[in-house]
Amino acid sequence: MKIHEFQGKQLFKTHGVPVLRGIPCTTLDQVEAAAKELGSPVIVVKSQIHAGGRGKGTVYADEAMTKKVMDGGVKLAKSPAEAREIAGKLLGNYLKTIQTGDGCKRIHTLYVEDGCKIAKELYLSVVLDRAVGLPVMVVSKEGGMDIEEVAHSKPEAILTVHLDPHAGLGDYQARRLGFEMGLTPIQIGAFIKTAKALVDCFLKTDADMVEVNPLVVTVDDQVVALDSKMSFDDNALFRHPDIAAMLDPNEEDASELEAKRHDMAFVTLGGNIGCMVNGAGLAMATMDAIALYGSDLGAFPANFLDVGGGATAEKVTTAFKIILKDASVEAILVNIFGGIMKCDTIAAGVLAAVKEVGLDRPLVVRLEGTNVELGKKMLRESGLAVIAAEDLRDGCRKAAEAAAAYRKAKGLPPLPVKPASAPIAYIPLKKVRRSGGPVVRSSKQTAPKAKAVAKTKPVIKAKGKVAAKPTAKAKAKSRKVAPKLARLSLMSFNPKRR
Ligand code: ADP
Ligand code: MG
Repeated sequence: MKIHEFQGKQLFKTHGVPVLRGIPCTTLDQVEAAAKELGSPVIVVKSQIHAGGRGKGTVYADEAMTKKVMDGGVKLAKSPAEAREIAGKLLGNYLKTIQTGDGCKRIHTLYVEDGCKIAKELYLSVVLDRAVGLPVMVVSKEGGMDIEEVAHSKPEAILTVHLDPHAGLGDYQARRLGFEMGLTPIQIGAFIKTAKALVDCFLKTDADMVEVNPLVVTVDDQVVALDSKMSFDDNALFRHPDIAAMLDPNEEDASELEAKRHDMAFVTLGGNIGCMVNGAGLAMATMDAIALYGSDLGAFPANFLDVGGGATAEKVTTAFKIILKDASVEAILVNIFGGIMKCDTIAAGVLAAVKEVGLDRPLVVRLEGTNVELGKKMLRESGLAVIAAEDLRDGCRKAAEAAAAYRKAKGLPPLPVKPASAPIAYIPLKKVRRSGGPVVRSSKQTAPKAKAVAKTKPVIKAKGKVAAKPTAKAKAKSRKVAPKLARLSLMSFNPKRR
């Protein structure tokens, strides 16, 4: 789950990350009052949307982005009246940024913040390095609005350090980063405090990303988080009701939210076959099978709705309603495995749902598991237009064909054929493992670990201290020794010493 900048700054404050005073506003009157209350000579009016790049974004009056209002979704104002005038051009309008893709986002909230005199703009973030299995701090002295460009054209200006998820960031690690960024001793003191507080915020809130861009050094040597971007592990939100309450429905997909409310997972995928499944693994397999068996008819999953383990008739009805709301759905495939739940229960649920919701698009049902014959018989004898499928392949084919027929009946042209899926290479198990033993590697893969570590040691990449770009071979080795590297980075951090 993502939150807005002003909400992230509330969390920053709680965890000791320095931020400026600011007030979130949703009306022009509130903006003017907030600017008066802050009373600063310069005030910043900041659009709150779940996307970065607002400073360099473009504001439009309409969602189709035909009527441009102005450049920039972050604006300076020198008086409450000017703040109000700017707010008038932002609130209710649409902001397009480098991170909103082809679309734009509507501005519902503004954050009115003190202005500050910036001496340096740094970049600071903490993310999860899933390959290594540790949080990693990323810093750069070239922070600000062009960090994406820096990452592309000057990757050596971006430094990283893995950190211990229990101990947090070590003083020695933060100090080293401060020096690498060319900060003065006074600034380094402030930077260490801020970097450690940010890690504390990341770890204590179960965040999976926290980004401060820019982290500024002010003209009077203060270090301040001028921006905030945070996202959290949804599965840990139950531990943080205060953060869960920060969810902004305006920023979320309405169908996904509705599914969540009913304890189901709904994901939109952009194709034409709506899918109802039970279980994440079956969902993935069904998506793959549709893409494979329906490719010649241009079929692809439009979405999937995972009704979970205990799908009741009521849940199935809700699931149907959600799937049918998606206008891109041209056929529905129900692929449910009756394990603990019996197939006749599922069939009863599907039939009840079809009767209640009505069905304007073809429905293919594939059932497997306990009481499957009884379930199929109920569908056959129901008199409803339900297409029964024998197995997964049959279900995907029938769904793709039904969708093609539906398009034809509507006078729509056939969908373009999708490229055939790449063949999957299966490695026979005995070639991969010794019986009961560890994974067997080829002679190349079992090269001495010490050698591999020595070749791939850079943890901090800066000022040409690090060897030239690693070769593909070295990269492959680095992936294999990643956990060892991560431990090393915690103990011996100085690349000069290694
Ligand atoms: P985004 O990253 O979405 O563009 P930021 O919050 O980083 O939005 O703001 C963009 C730029 O605006 C910053 O890089 C900074 O230069 C300037 N800025 C933002 N907040 C303030 C502030 N409170 N005082 C002065 N300048 C600011
Ligand atoms: Mg920013």
